[in-house]
Amino acid sequence: MTVHFMCSCGGRTYSLPDKMAGQKVRCPNCKVLIIVPQSSEQVVLAMPAEDQSIPQ
Ligand SMILES: [Zn+2]
Repeated sequence: MTVHFMCSCGGRTYSLPDKMAGQKVRCPNCKVLIIVPQSSEQVVLAMPAEDQSIPQ
């Protein structure tokens, strides 16, 4: 399954494997960290991560 989501900046839509859900990715458009939403058949708006640091 693939999750389709859009960054809150609206810059573009992303498609990632649903196993990425809940993980943080950085939007290459606005450079903000966003949380990959749960798998959905629709494009959903991803919420920016509150913690703007990526745990190693
Ligand atoms: Zn963005």
